[in-house]
Amino acid sequence: MIPVTQAIHIIDSTVVSQRIKKVKIAKSLGFILAEDIFAPINMPSFRQSAMDGYALKWSDSTTYTVTEESKAGDAKHIAIHPLEAVRIFTGAKVPDDADTVVMQEHVTKQDKSITITKMPNKGSNVRPVGEQVSTGDLVLKKGLKLNEAAIGFLAGLGIQRVAVFKTPKVSILVTGNELQRQGKPLKEGAIYESNAVMLKMALQRFGLTQVKVFYAKDTLKATKKNIKRALEYCDVLLISGGISVGDYDFVKEALGKNDVDELFYKINQKPGKPLWFGKKDQQFVFALPGNPASALSCFYVYVLPLLKKCSGYSDYHLPRIQAKSATDFKNTSGKTLFLKASLQDGIVSVLPSQQSSMLNTFATSNVLLMVPKHVETIKKQDQVSCINLECYGN
Ligand code: AMP
Ligand code: MG
Repeated sequence: MIPVTQAIHIIDSTVVSQRIKKVKIAKSLGFILAEDIFAPINMPSFRQSAMDGYALKWSDSTTYTVTEESKAGDAKHIAIHPLEAVRIFTGAKVPDDADTVVMQEHVTKQDKSITITKMPNKGSNVRPVGEQVSTGDLVLKKGLKLNEAAIGFLAGLGIQRVAVFKTPKVSILVTGNELQRQGKPLKEGAIYESNAVMLKMALQRFGLTQVKVFYAKDTLKATKKNIKRALEYCDVLLISGGISVGDYDFVKEALGKNDVDELFYKINQKPGKPLWFGKKDQQFVFALPGNPASALSCFYVYVLPLLKKCSGYSDYHLPRIQAKSATDFKNTSGKTLFLKASLQDGIVSVLPSQQSSMLNTFATSNVLLMVPKHVETIKKQDQVSCINLECYGN
């Protein structure tokens, strides 16, 4: 059995292969940029009016004659002589001879003549060429998580495709003779299988949608065969159940028979003690305890960071938040605890139903309160560390 810190260290020091693909920008949401982006054009690429108003060559005069019009999209060259102005609209090309745009709210108009009631500073309301970015500038760095703003910005630069890190394909292998699919009344001794959809949803929330689910009965033969099948599909395999020390727990042996090498087994933590982690060539395997709350807790603390690492994140652990404990609390277990908890206004309350089989209060937890193994007493108002379950993907 290893401490939590060592298990996390093993995840951190595991080298993963990050693969890259070129995608259309509309398919890049949530992916990590795998290349530096240099601006292919100036933005704006011509001098643009920032206002609806009048473009002119700045002078002391307040009266100008309006000669022509420039609207958004017009490309023609318009000459402007002293004391002449051009009617102009937002986004339109500012004539080369003009240096200033006066907003229309500061102008009174009579026929072809305008009188400026408030002259702006010279150069006002003209967006210079390259004001936002210039051709060749490094504008987005490799490692950025692409959001809608970044994608809009890329589109504005005329960029159609970008290189992003591929996200891993995941297999979920569910083991257990007692498991029954939803749809029929429960048979005696059976429980509804719930880990597959729970893990699938956790993956989906993180943007991983290439997921296949496999099932195995509690025999060595079935477990071995289905691990093999599941490995044929995925980069990362998540196994549910069968990793404890019971007579019908065959996952560890079956992993060995599939030449998956163990990187760790059993962590001094609650829930999730029997977590197993291993590797076969470039593929990773987590064998999660079958108890649903253990499986999910292990997912957040160990599986998600590895998946994020494979997906190109450099900051791949869920963020920690400091909070004050709502109550006194004792940890006499000698284990590191991950407690289902609710954080409101900086105060964290441990929720009931902490047993590893219970998801009822996980459903309303927004953090996992982490109590290190050596901390035996927490007093009300003490500062504690929580894992933020709501901030999922930065
Ligand atoms: P195991 O890790 O296989 O010993 O299972 C531990 C506990 O979790 C048992 O009570 C199982 O019935 C339960 N369990 C295992 N797999 C699942 C699953 N897929 N969905 C819901 N409960 C499960
Ligand atoms: Mg089992």
